Amino acid sequence: MGDRDFGPTAPSLALCYFNSRCTRQSGVEVLQEETLDEEILSYGFTKEIWKGLVPPRVELFAWFVLVGRVNTKDRLSRLEILQQNDNLCVLCKKEVENTQHLFVTCELSWQVWCAWVSSFGQKWTAPDNLKDHFESWRYMPVKRTQRKSWIVGFFSVIWIIWLRRNEVIFQNKTTGVTDCVDQAFTFATEWCDK
Ligand SMILES: [Zn+2]
Repeated sequence: MGDRDFGPTAPSLALCYFNSRCTRQSGVEVLQEETLDEEILSYGFTKEIWKGLVPPRVELFAWFVLVGRVNTKDRLSRLEILQQNDNLCVLCKKEVENTQHLFVTCELSWQVWCAWVSSFGQKWTAPDNLKDHFESWRYMPVKRTQRKSWIVGFFSVIWIIWLRRNEVIFQNKTTGVTDCVDQAFTFATEWCDK
């Protein structure tokens, strides 16, 4: 695995990121042993992540989302870090929490995306996967003056979904569409102003 296809510090940052969130050493070891297959490394579109538009930790997280390496419950249960039946999405408590569900099709996430899209006067259809989602997002015909906010919005939405999801799991908090939308816009404004 070379460092040509993603930010040079991505692997080490990645391990820090996930170490801080995984309390079982065995799980960390499993994750560290995983390698990225050629299909993922050939995803040239991931280069579009590393543009410095959002904080590095958010870029890194987006990269994990797009290459399907986020530690969703589904993934952790398949890696036998969580129990097989502990894979339900905590945001809707209805579907298995895999990447596509958590970040796109979950009813909460879906409404957050819709709010963002409609605020820019755009329309969209459900993407088949996160890769297509990011691709179509990048090519959406948004006004030039809104371009940066639009792209940053992709990052802020997935970031807030992940933060809120973690707060529900680890801090027993609750969240909702309005909360997520508001915070996604707050992040986007902060990052665009930096
Ligand atoms: Zn859900």
